[in-house]
Amino acid sequence: MTENYIDAATTTWQQCRDFLQRYPFAILPLGATEQHGPHLPQNTDSLIAEAMALQVGKQSLGMILPTIPIGYSWVWRDYPGSLTLSFDTFRSMIKDIVLSLDRNGCQALLILTTHGANPQPIKYSIRELVDHSSIRILRVFYPNLSQIMADADSPTWRPTNFHAEEFETSLMLHLHPHLVDMTRAVCEYPPHSLDYEMSALPMGALSQSGVFGDATVATAEKGERWFNACVTNIVKVWRVFLDLPSDKSNQPS
Ligand SMILES: [Zn+2]
Repeated sequence: MTENYIDAATTTWQQCRDFLQRYPFAILPLGATEQHGPHLPQNTDSLIAEAMALQVGKQSLGMILPTIPIGYSWVWRDYPGSLTLSFDTFRSMIKDIVLSLDRNGCQALLILTTHGANPQPIKYSIRELVDHSSIRILRVFYPNLSQIMADADSPTWRPTNFHAEEFETSLMLHLHPHLVDMTRAVCEYPPHSLDYEMSALPMGALSQSGVFGDATVATAEKGERWFNACVTNIVKVWRVFLDLPSDKSNQPS
């Protein structure tokens, strides 16, 4: 057991008890199992969330919870292998986990997701929990991402919509290169539909490959740089949220 973080899944309940008595904080990574084009595995978001949660824990404080491997992925409903929880199930799952942590003595929770459709159900779960739990909750989805991606070699499909392209592929080339098949990476910018985000038209219906952007220009070097920048940004806001000093001494104020 290390001093400033603990893995809840692979330690004992006594270790978790001792950790939470000292540092009553937890980190919950939320991923997805969904299509990520012809070159990335379906658990891309889960693997990135898991790696980020571990690094954030190492650089701050928290009991790291198991990565939730299924998210809200309705838009990929017609892709074989893509799984989704319903919006209400997802919200209920968040609430159940938070109420468990509340009973465990946890006082603050960082919900870290790397899947772009998860923030909505997370947002509404947190609002409902305000009246039922005293745990303070911070939720993040790649804070300051546009700044981090300023040196990307390709534009995003839409300012806030991208998928399985340069950014995600680069992160995976850094974290799990053996799971990326760059010989199958493609560049696809599906045409915008005028009613996109104004109707029930799913994002998945617009693309041929499942890629929204240019995956062919991804590199492990960019992935390492962007991964570290993402971790730094998350650590920064989490430490402020916990009222910890901004250096990495790991001592609560
Ligand atoms: Zn993804």
